[in-house]
Amino acid sequence: MPDTKLFSTITQPDNGTRLAGQVIRQGGLVAFPTETVYGLGANGLDPDAVMRIFEAKGRPQDNPLILHVARKSDVKQLWRRVPDTARALMDEFWPGPLTLVCARSGAVPDEVTAGLDTVAVRMSDNKTALAFIRAAGVPIAAPSANTSGKPSPTCAQHVIDDLWGKVDVILDGGQCRIGMESTVLLLAKRPVILRPGAVTREQIESRIGAVEVAPSVLSPLAEGERAASPGMKYRHYAPDAQVIVASGTPSAAAGIIRREYDRAENDGRRCIILASRETQPFYRGRKCDIIGSSANMEEMCANLFSALRRYSGSADVIFAESVSTDELGLAYMNRLLRASGFTILNR
Ligand code: AMP
Ligand code: MG
Repeated sequence: MPDTKLFSTITQPDNGTRLAGQVIRQGGLVAFPTETVYGLGANGLDPDAVMRIFEAKGRPQDNPLILHVARKSDVKQLWRRVPDTARALMDEFWPGPLTLVCARSGAVPDEVTAGLDTVAVRMSDNKTALAFIRAAGVPIAAPSANTSGKPSPTCAQHVIDDLWGKVDVILDGGQCRIGMESTVLLLAKRPVILRPGAVTREQIESRIGAVEVAPSVLSPLAEGERAASPGMKYRHYAPDAQVIVASGTPSAAAGIIRREYDRAENDGRRCIILASRETQPFYRGRKCDIIGSSANMEEMCANLFSALRRYSGSADVIFAESVSTDELGLAYMNRLLRASGFTILNR
């Protein structure tokens, strides 16, 4: 069992990054901060090191990983060809929370792509992430640094809770700015958003024209249906509590939540409502956690995973309101619906 070492990078972004780079070259595991969520990294060109990621997380092996690079030019060794659309998007959004999926080169091991002929690549804008990847000198394969299926980690404590003793190094960069995973865009003939994130469909379209959103973003896969992105098959972001989403106008959703809350409480179940500052007044006398302002989706996104973790095990039912799926709302609803296992009440 690794003897986990923890370094704070909050005041000094490259604290511990040299050692972390060495650990990577020796085949070890490093958890590191990014602007989206914490990543669990290994040498992306070393199949044995990559397999350790799957073991530490308990991640199904058919779910491919994202390769993290420190320079845009690194994509040339990883993709067979760099499409013009990729160039345009990298110019505009890298470094940043956009992952691009293109046909892979022979340098990328099957263990990273789960046997697919494409590979996902991203360049984070987090200073510690970049210093660490540069120190490692190789692309870093990294999924989110949580136990598979749980809400993604948005601060080092979440990583410690899930992975202490399973990784060699944890770099603590404080709270993640965005708090939700990157947008994953497949650059096929017709580009497809496989997972929505902080770079929105509207922003991508303004640069490369029409893109589709994979059906699995907002609905469960039908029996026997093949997922464009294997990650979409699995229950995700799920706390140890039932999550119930209420849809409709704010006051209609609040009406549903009040009714279901009171019923559940009568049955002796511990309830919490994830509300916004605007909707909290609907819930007088009931337990609420304000996760942001409904007029500020950045704030709602940044706080969703930590709220799900906060009540994991300490509540039996977590109620949340649906929001419009425009712009950032698409990422928010994707995570919330998956956390709920698509338990949506509309009346
Ligand atoms: P995570 O590593 O937890 O951030 O999840 C990465 C997401 O990207 C998962 O939903 C994967 O299924 C998806 N992904 C990674 N590589 C590919 C790929 N080559 N093709 C399609 N989806 C991918
Ligand atoms: Mg993940």
